[in-house]
Amino acid sequence: MEFKTTCSYCGVGCGIKVKKGNDNKVHVTGDENHPVNKGMLCSKGMNLHYVVNDQSDRILYPEMRWSRSHPRERVSWDDALDRAAKVFKSIIKKHGPDSVGFYVSGQSLTEEYYIANKLTKGFLGTNNIDTNSRLCMSSAVVGYKKTFGEDSVPISYADIELADCFLITGANPAWCHPILFRRIEKHKEENPDVKIIVIDPRKTDSANFADLHLQLLPGTDVILYNAIGQYLIKRGMIDEEFINKHTEDFSAYKDLVFSTSIKQASKLCGVSEKDIKKAANIIGASKGFISMWAMGLNQSVVGTDKNTSLLNLSLITGQVGKPGSGPFSLTGQPNAMGGREVGGMANLLAVHKDLQNEEHRREVAQFWGVNTISEKPGLTATEMFEALESGKLKAVWIACTNPLVSLPNSHQIERAMKNAKFVVVQDISFKSDTVSYADLVLPAAGWLEKEGTMTNSERRISYLPKAIDPPGEARPDVEILCDFAQRMGYRGFSYNETSEIYDEYASMTKGTNIDVSFLNYDRLKNEGTFQWPVPEYRHQGTARLFQDKKFYTPSQKAKFNLPVANHNKVLDLDPDFPYILTTGRIRDQWHTMTRTGKVARLKTHYAVPVLQINPVDAHLCKISDGDITEIKSKNGVVRVRAKVTDDIKKGVVFLPMHWGKQLQSDLNRANNLTNTLVDPISKEPDFKFTQVSISKYIKK
Ligand code: SF4
Repeated sequence: MEFKTTCSYCGVGCGIKVKKGNDNKVHVTGDENHPVNKGMLCSKGMNLHYVVNDQSDRILYPEMRWSRSHPRERVSWDDALDRAAKVFKSIIKKHGPDSVGFYVSGQSLTEEYYIANKLTKGFLGTNNIDTNSRLCMSSAVVGYKKTFGEDSVPISYADIELADCFLITGANPAWCHPILFRRIEKHKEENPDVKIIVIDPRKTDSANFADLHLQLLPGTDVILYNAIGQYLIKRGMIDEEFINKHTEDFSAYKDLVFSTSIKQASKLCGVSEKDIKKAANIIGASKGFISMWAMGLNQSVVGTDKNTSLLNLSLITGQVGKPGSGPFSLTGQPNAMGGREVGGMANLLAVHKDLQNEEHRREVAQFWGVNTISEKPGLTATEMFEALESGKLKAVWIACTNPLVSLPNSHQIERAMKNAKFVVVQDISFKSDTVSYADLVLPAAGWLEKEGTMTNSERRISYLPKAIDPPGEARPDVEILCDFAQRMGYRGFSYNETSEIYDEYASMTKGTNIDVSFLNYDRLKNEGTFQWPVPEYRHQGTARLFQDKKFYTPSQKAKFNLPVANHNKVLDLDPDFPYILTTGRIRDQWHTMTRTGKVARLKTHYAVPVLQINPVDAHLCKISDGDITEIKSKNGVVRVRAKVTDDIKKGVVFLPMHWGKQLQSDLNRANNLTNTLVDPISKEPDFKFTQVSISKYIKK
């Protein structure tokens, strides 16, 4: 039997063919007819069947403990969900709805995301629902909203083959979005005039392929983009007609970028004036300019500013809404975009409606048949765990994510989980460190074991069929959430089919900028994938937004925003912690390795985490290649071996974020070190700038 589905790892959203044998085992290959990957798969995708066929780590039955001094024991689904409903009701009665929260995932399907939000915001009466997507793209959401009036990725992968200039910044797609990067490589191989600029403190594989690598100091991105903007304006390499007709606030932007000289910018960023000008000349001469970014911009205390200052470069060059050009934020997770559509964050409402807008709250409440939606913004990811630690939040329901390893400041997360009155973990695998803190564990169905939809980085919605049965008593997440909602006494959660949930969501989009009201499971199954909006009957989807140059702001003009973070944090370094730690991902692992960590061949690239350190810094710290190194921050300690390499800039060190206690030891966990500082608007944590000290570890 053969099924077509979508890869469950990154936001590229590659099409996969799944062959199921009589033994219920599966085998995956790339779907050669899929518009995203045309048959290609990266190392993670092509090994997905090993993850599915190895069920040894799976959570098979609900488990519960009656008190923290007792071990968890197997219970029935009825007992598990009755207890959950009883505890949630009692906590809400005593402490109010804001004393409970849900923490979900960009790996959840759109239907799951929708139901979790409907349950929390519509019925529990709190906006305390956030997602691990907060950790990867919330700064991009704010950047788009501030610039275009709404969270809207304007372009498609198909624009790659039409572009002649790529600015890849704060991203290493060669490792983290490999199939997308393969399309860029192929395009350049076939068209040598295509230019690639990479901005990154590390010499990554993406940087090694580029025509120009600007190895900036972490935290100085805004200064660099503004310096490029200044040079483009000076040299007249801007689109004045576009600026005059379709944008606002250009003169304020011009004043801002001229307030720092290119010479000063060069010094602050650690990039030569010559290279800044070279990058600007390439961008200014291009006919199709695409900027691409990911966590390097978003995961920062100035993440919003980094986003808007990069988007400003597309505006001054008029490179929006035309073939082969536009800004393109890459989503890390397979359905981070779907989560954004259904309002899957503490400050959002479904279908891109605004929680702060009274009329929008009324419309959503009316649609769900509830009296009101609370106007109080919910707790965001880091705020939620801070509130658990302080005792303000009493109960948390964690679905499909492993915050013990992925959130910043792991020791604080441990304290928060210990202090919580009630923790529910709904997941597929005991390999998640978070499970060990659960009072109630609910076994969820995994990829191929349930149906639903996802949306990739280019707004492409795909249908994922159920191909195999989940093991033991595991159930699809929507079924678990709807069952719980009904036990809480809420109406509006008795769906017969998952398609009914999709149809409900789709009808909510009618008339909005993300209208998919003419899309349903039948069309997705029969006709394949669609890019939203799909606003009419027989509409084939929308590859590119803003072709009419009408943006979603009240004036229909795109807006130049003025990034205020025009300072270099390097100047503020604490002398006790003189190095900047930046964390990130490696090629063959995914998130906290609960799935990729099961595949032996994916460990041949990196079997253990290593610290990248520049030879000059290694010499100063008396560290040789392979030495065990102790890295300390104000929050904790990590001990890993050193990799001495000039791939990393002097003064900066790099550590991968994947490893947790279950897989190695908690001394390998990068987030022991990171802090919970967040961007004030997007509330995205800064994983790219932690001050650390480094020394050779000598066992006493
Ligand atoms: Fe899966 Fe992303 Fe690799 Fe494609 S690029 S196969 S979506 S992990």
